[in-house]
Amino acid sequence: MQTPIGPLAPPTPGCSLVGDLIGALYNRIARSWRELMLKGKSAVVTGSTSGIGLAIAGALAAEGCDIVLNGFGDPAAIERLRAGLAERHRVRAIYLPADMAKPAEIRALIAEAARQFGAVDILVNNAGIQHVAPIVAFPEERWDAVIAINLSAAFHAAKAALPLMIARRWGRIINIASAHGLVASGEKAAYVSAKHGLVGLTKVAAIENANHGITCNAICPGWVLTPLVEQQIEARARDQGIAVEQARADLVREKQPMLDYTTPEKIGALAVFLCGEAASTITGAALSIDGGWVAQ
Ligand code: NAD
Repeated sequence: MQTPIGPLAPPTPGCSLVGDLIGALYNRIARSWRELMLKGKSAVVTGSTSGIGLAIAGALAAEGCDIVLNGFGDPAAIERLRAGLAERHRVRAIYLPADMAKPAEIRALIAEAARQFGAVDILVNNAGIQHVAPIVAFPEERWDAVIAINLSAAFHAAKAALPLMIARRWGRIINIASAHGLVASGEKAAYVSAKHGLVGLTKVAAIENANHGITCNAICPGWVLTPLVEQQIEARARDQGIAVEQARADLVREKQPMLDYTTPEKIGALAVFLCGEAASTITGAALSIDGGWVAQ
């Protein structure tokens, strides 16, 4: 990301060799500054065995953060992810299999992360599930599960992590909400309610901790191509009897003026920015990264 980092200002763009060299030097110094800032910080990223969470874990590891991976999946595949992160970025990476629907397991996850890394500096509440049905047919147990994983888990994790952050006078909480945290769509009652609630929780956490060196922000993505969305695209193709490619194009066109899906890596870059010095006074914000979805 080409954003000024810390006290550095970017050089004026030019087309000369000297200009290119200065630009390269600037990028190197900016990167070193960021690395210094985040190197050795410990980050818990919930739901990071796939999709957006995995990309955020990778982006934070690339900045030198030690990483706690969490989420479901094949144990051998998760071990490959964990070992890959640790080797590629020369950081410590551990996997803790807490079920984010269970408050006791969430508390244990934060306690174990702090025991192994000595701190929880960064908490990314990302784990999420979806269920699509009209309210009249919405299964009650799916409502409970969506609210538990997409909303209550963030409360339980923040409640456990905040005392550790307050003690160290530094912390970053990033809640992965959604465009559906700001506007609604039909047939997503539980998801829209959870994500609106998550944006509210973000504001409260920001206000309560504004003078503890802690920021709390929500990222509100539009469509991102991950397994969560691929399932919705496949269901749409099945229901409408159309090709998956057509369903993929239709889905994005229905909501976003910009017809591109956001990549998980772009969300990772935004999360890194929010953890950096340049973002130290951004708090309580709901940052859209949605191809113009909620601008309409
Ligand atoms: P994904 O299905 O690829 O990943 C979800 C992750 O959460 C996986 O690692 C999964 O194992 C984990 N998970 C699910 N239930 C869990 C539980 N009970 N305990 C622990 N881990 C659990 O989904 P994604 O698209 O990467 O979504 C990540 C987040 O981004 C979600 O909160 C989602 O609502 C949000 N989001 C996604 C999009 C999108 O278009 N993909 C858009 C807006 C917001």
